[in-house]
Amino acid sequence: MIARMTADELPIRPEIRGVGAYGAPQLDVAVRLNTNENPFPPSAAVIESISEMLAGELGGLQRYPDRDAVALRTDLAAYLSSATGVSIDCDGVWAANGSNEILQQILQAFGGPGRIAMGFEPSYSMHSIIARGTGSDFVAIPRDTDFAIDPVTACEAISAVQPAVVFVCSPNNPTGTAVDLETIARIYEEVTTNEIGVLVVDEAYAEFSNTPSAVSLLAGRPRLIVSRTMSKAFAFAGARVGYFAADPAVVEAILRVRLPYHLSAITQAAARGALAHAPDLLSAVTELKVQRDRIVEGCRHLGLRVADSDANFVLFGGLGDQTVIWQALLDRGVLVRDVGLAGWLRVTAGTPAETTAFLEALTEVIGTLSVAVATEPVGQESR
Ligand SMILES: *Cc1c(COP(=O)(O)O)cnc(C)c1O
Repeated sequence: MIARMTADELPIRPEIRGVGAYGAPQLDVAVRLNTNENPFPPSAAVIESISEMLAGELGGLQRYPDRDAVALRTDLAAYLSSATGVSIDCDGVWAANGSNEILQQILQAFGGPGRIAMGFEPSYSMHSIIARGTGSDFVAIPRDTDFAIDPVTACEAISAVQPAVVFVCSPNNPTGTAVDLETIARIYEEVTTNEIGVLVVDEAYAEFSNTPSAVSLLAGRPRLIVSRTMSKAFAFAGARVGYFAADPAVVEAILRVRLPYHLSAITQAAARGALAHAPDLLSAVTELKVQRDRIVEGCRHLGLRVADSDANFVLFGGLGDQTVIWQALLDRGVLVRDVGLAGWLRVTAGTPAETTAFLEALTEVIGTLSVAVATEPVGQESR
């Protein structure tokens, strides 16, 4: 038998040599709390609305879709305006296949070879992965011990590194920490003292947060981009829809790098069908915050360290070797996320029954293994 060749034996770019593919394990277990989705399936009314929109497209599938997704962007702008109270129009909104594609398009337009992207870690590891994939360098600045971003440290780092693209994730994945608007405004000032600097605020979890959205800072800040997704609060991860709000000039810049017809007619129609029922889709948000708070209290009751969360997940620590706890939970049918942060694990708020299953499994694991040992957070890369 001839041994299978590996990708590293091909003449691939040096940046992707020896690296693994990103991805949380997709295991078939009863309780999956590892990818921060909203666990509630769409309602019958949402399914009907999406079906009608899709049916309306099927007779036209021989044609390419609207390249600029104007109808969908108009609907997203209306949703953002009503959610934030800031008037946003279609020309200042762009949509793509998940906010990961949004981030990639931003880096294609504003990053690239010879340019540096920066983030405050632990944070969403796709920021550095997409940066490197687009030929940008990536510099990680550590957060405080309570996972906050100190504006003075941040501005000093920006001034020293002169990044082209700065990512601020708020609420931050995997810690749940929100960043206040004053800090974001200060970082924007510093980023834009560099003539090539843009600031990207990744608000994938904004609907769960009590901290106001950076959308309210857009006016007069043409190099601020606020990225959002329908994958989390909107319970629409399977459809792959992300978007951003920014100055219309940013949208014009993205049009120069995006693939033509990147967003299928099916995706555009499905997203519009879902957005017509935004309040219905978002109705689980309140319930999920209740489940999140149950997790926070349950973990504290077990003597664990818990980062305050403004999102639909919780980072809990003081676990000693977190890989042992991860496996012990999995053995009890509960899948959580090891983000590569020593002593910590992240769990998504699930349905009430899933959350109960997690808390019971964790109680049993901590009792059986007696492994709760307080550790200090260390700034390892998170996934
Ligand atoms: C989940 C997530 C995204 C991307 O999700 P998409 O499904 O690609 O929209 C982006 N940023 C953060 C911080 C996330 O957690």
